[in-house]
Amino acid sequence: MASPTFACDTHTHTIFSRHAYSTIGECVAAAKAVGLELLGSTDHYSAMISASSPNNPMYLRDYQHFINFEVWPREWDGVYVMRGAEADIVDLDGHLFGWDIPMHKGITGRTFKRLLSLQEHVWRGIDYAIASIHNDDFTYDAALSQTTNMYVRALEDPKVLMLGHIGRAGVPFDVDTVLTAAKDLGKLIEINEHSFAPHYGKARKEACRHIACRCAELGVSIAVGSDAHIAYDVGRFDAVAALLDEIHFPRELVATRSKESFLSVFDGIAKS
Ligand SMILES: [Zn+2]
Ligand SMILES: [Zn+2]
Repeated sequence: MASPTFACDTHTHTIFSRHAYSTIGECVAAAKAVGLELLGSTDHYSAMISASSPNNPMYLRDYQHFINFEVWPREWDGVYVMRGAEADIVDLDGHLFGWDIPMHKGITGRTFKRLLSLQEHVWRGIDYAIASIHNDDFTYDAALSQTTNMYVRALEDPKVLMLGHIGRAGVPFDVDTVLTAAKDLGKLIEINEHSFAPHYGKARKEACRHIACRCAELGVSIAVGSDAHIAYDVGRFDAVAALLDEIHFPRELVATRSKESFLSVFDGIAKS
């Protein structure tokens, strides 16, 4: 059974992410088996998904996973299922993938009368987004003030509910400024189980630990996510549980401790 501290897994991937291996049905079954109340499915919404390039235009077809979520039941075998996306931050202004990619045609090939960006199409279908950095090329040579502003701007997007694995991303930024912005916006900082996998170095794990400590000290709420890329890992939070235990992290700041507490944060930003 899942630890009583973590009744939700708000960061998981399905086969849509291409380097992940389970279906949504398998992830829900895994969530139920470990006793989770809520599963957030957050496939990559980024250039990782499509072979398109500036010379080979992107189509909404490549991202149609995100536009038909209406067919997913909210309650599935007793698990509350949320529809998410893990969106890549793509520049120092904190823009998210697809913000500048106009979609001319729908998935059937019909021309849209109204031109929306890829991000606008995806945003219509999802409950929330996790903003993460996977390709940090654009941050090389950036000043700390720029990377700090980048994370704050990403948080300001109305659909962004949390920043994903900011310790593991390896991009330096002013931790207290970003954490305080999250608190002021009623949003979350993610503490990500996968960041403690053996292949990530000690420095990145130390960064995650520092972020968790500052969240506790500044009163910033966190989301605990497995970042599962296979159903087997859904709801597994062993390393994060050990860390939070060790630093005596306040339970009331763990927004994913229950379905009710996570939904109250979600409802807060959905209304604002
Ligand atoms: Zn991934
Ligand atoms: Zn992920």
